[in-house]
Amino acid sequence: MTRRIKAISFDGDMTLWDFNKVMRHSLSLTLGELHRKVPGISDSGLTVDRMIEIRNTVAKALKGKVLNLEEIRFHAFKQTLVSVDWPDDALAAELNAFYLKHRFEDIELYPDVIPALDLLGRDFTLGLLSNGNGYPDQCGLPGRFRFVVFSQDIGVEKPGEEIFLATCKLAGCDPDELMHIGDSLESDVAGANGIGAVSVWLNRDGKINDSGIDPDHEVSLLTEVPSLLH
Ligand SMILES: [Mg+2]
Repeated sequence: MTRRIKAISFDGDMTLWDFNKVMRHSLSLTLGELHRKVPGISDSGLTVDRMIEIRNTVAKALKGKVLNLEEIRFHAFKQTLVSVDWPDDALAAELNAFYLKHRFEDIELYPDVIPALDLLGRDFTLGLLSNGNGYPDQCGLPGRFRFVVFSQDIGVEKPGEEIFLATCKLAGCDPDELMHIGDSLESDVAGANGIGAVSVWLNRDGKINDSGIDPDHEVSLLTEVPSLLH
């Protein structure tokens, strides 16, 4: 490594925690809550997969209009209730609050996260840079990050240059003094490469990279990162 790294930004979903797992778990609990509140809905055939489909359709329709992910999730619950012929905005708001509580409180960090942050936090300014809404304080990481950047606040998602430059500003470093680590070649690695930061691809599952996007480094665990820096 020739460049001197001052700050390290981490992606959240699928890098620090398994978002898909906590999302499905929380939707399943919310579906149970819906069955409890409106017993007749049990016959509607509503499933977690269907709820995910509805959420994705709603998110696509709201793209550019609504950036806040909690708000998008609320609209998705509204639409879910419409889909089972039970339109009820107050119930949608209740389900959304129930979902969000579990979505944050039931999150599980990957086992390498705390050991890696312990090691890296001694020498580097650490932060979160996420297109999601995993607030560190609610996700088992209070006080771990000196800067937190969410695309829903900046108005631009990774790999956009603006969000990476905003990260450097908050981290107090130049682009080539930032290392960014994430599981997505398209969002994390391409975005970091785009501003001349050091990109690290976290490839937990040993995927083949046929994207044409080349990371500066590839690791399978976050605990491999300190050895890249010494
Ligand atoms: Mg990710």
